[in-house]
Amino acid sequence: MSTTKTSAFTVLRAETTPAPSLPPFGQFIGGAFVPSTSGETVDVVNPATEDVLIQVPAGSVEDVDAAVAAAVTAKAGWAATTPKERAAVLLKIANIIESNRELFETLESANTGKTAMVAEDDISSAIDTFRFSAGAARAYNALGADDYAENHTSVIFREPVGVVGVITPWNYPLLMAAWKIAPILGAGNTLVLKPSEQTPLTTLKLAELIADEVPAGVVNIVTGPGRVVGNRLAEHPDVDLVAITGSVGSGQKVAASASSSVKRVHLELGGKAPVVIFADADLEAAAQGVRSAGFWNGGQECGAACRVLVHESVAEKFIELLVREVSDITIGTPGTGADVEIGSMISGAHYERVLAALEDIRKDGLTIAVGGNAIDGLGYFIEPTVVTNVPAGAPITSNEIFGPVVSVETFSTDDEAVARANETIYGLAASVWTKDSARSLTVPRQLDFGTVWVNSHLVIATEMPWGGFKGSGYGRDLSSYALDDFSRTKHVMYNRG
Ligand code: NAD
Repeated sequence: MSTTKTSAFTVLRAETTPAPSLPPFGQFIGGAFVPSTSGETVDVVNPATEDVLIQVPAGSVEDVDAAVAAAVTAKAGWAATTPKERAAVLLKIANIIESNRELFETLESANTGKTAMVAEDDISSAIDTFRFSAGAARAYNALGADDYAENHTSVIFREPVGVVGVITPWNYPLLMAAWKIAPILGAGNTLVLKPSEQTPLTTLKLAELIADEVPAGVVNIVTGPGRVVGNRLAEHPDVDLVAITGSVGSGQKVAASASSSVKRVHLELGGKAPVVIFADADLEAAAQGVRSAGFWNGGQECGAACRVLVHESVAEKFIELLVREVSDITIGTPGTGADVEIGSMISGAHYERVLAALEDIRKDGLTIAVGGNAIDGLGYFIEPTVVTNVPAGAPITSNEIFGPVVSVETFSTDDEAVARANETIYGLAASVWTKDSARSLTVPRQLDFGTVWVNSHLVIATEMPWGGFKGSGYGRDLSSYALDDFSRTKHVMYNRG
């Protein structure tokens, strides 16, 4: 499609950026990098410069089968380790990431166009996820052993599920891998992970750096397209659970493929988070909150504060504040400083998708209060955009754009705000902005979303669960709930009679 390349925003461009430390070529299977059987490759592109960084194997069904066989072989040994031993490995992984923090941040930014601010947060959160899971693996809680039937003593065992297949997206490549690898290993499982074909580099780098610390076959990485590698993981009879973070469509396909072997499925899918702003809210704080949480990672964020519902009596004031905030957002290539807020879109294809959504917004007669265009020059940059004059039910209120685009609707009553916020197939995250204590207690309970913030948005705590309702899937990342999801419960009952 044609793109409008005129912009009020400029992209700060780094004169030089450190060369990223690239991973070895191959699939990581059984503790070593091995060639793919396919002989085909996928280009991995730096979206801020449009340069090809490296090629990785376009994996095959045979590669997945070899990786699953390695995970099956390693399964009994890893399951037999104590929580303390597994925790020691997870802590080592955390330390390895921490001591290579700069390497990971540079590589992640090169592969995704992320700003330093986001890359730093991703890597810090990945480290924390491994440290949390190390502790949580040693502190499982369950119903106490006791006599629940006369003369019979019941004991609950928490066992690993077995081999877990993991499929990750491109928006937070290492972090989404960490959210899965840490609890999966902590709970005593082995795994085969397929990173997004667009962003496999930090996951492969992690495999390279931890190869000597994790027993061979416990962690396996196979790169390649979802329809081949991801689908084989979902259908493979020796994979006991498949977990995907991705779009609703991919989640549906994974769940359908998984059904042939009746394996467990863990789905973290898309979102379209409503931001409900009541008339009594601190409007400046809300506008700053949307600036940060609506445009974090360029809006390529499943919990992004992308759909504002504001009370009609304060809408004009709020829009003025938001437009002022968004007009001031800084954009840049990696390496342009710690304060730069937005980088490029992940790929040319995604850039075109976001621009097509902006075109539809124009066709629907909505008002683009700021932004709305591509930005001239190399790289897939799009202006931070605020869309107003949005009627109830407009496509933008329900379609996940996954770019730097925030829409603003108005409402007149609390009941209407709740009903409209819930009018979406998604149920991942939402926020409520109010100074009224009664509203702050009742409205979150009425919202159909797995996370609801009050006077905040997109603050994540590793101890707290993350996951959705409805079309956003089921299963929880982070927290001890993730360890539950990657464990199975066995009841053993002893007759003492
Ligand atoms: P995507 O669905 O295109 O791809 C995700 C992964 O699924 C990739 O590794 C891809 O190769 C794989 N895949 C695609 N088709 C498949 C198939 N038929 N079988 C098996 N695997 C397949 O998503 P994306 O574009 O990489 O990521 C963006 C999406 O992810 C958004 O919808 C976003 O909301 C969602 N997301 C959700 C969360 C969450 O925590 N809920 C977090 C990050 C991203």
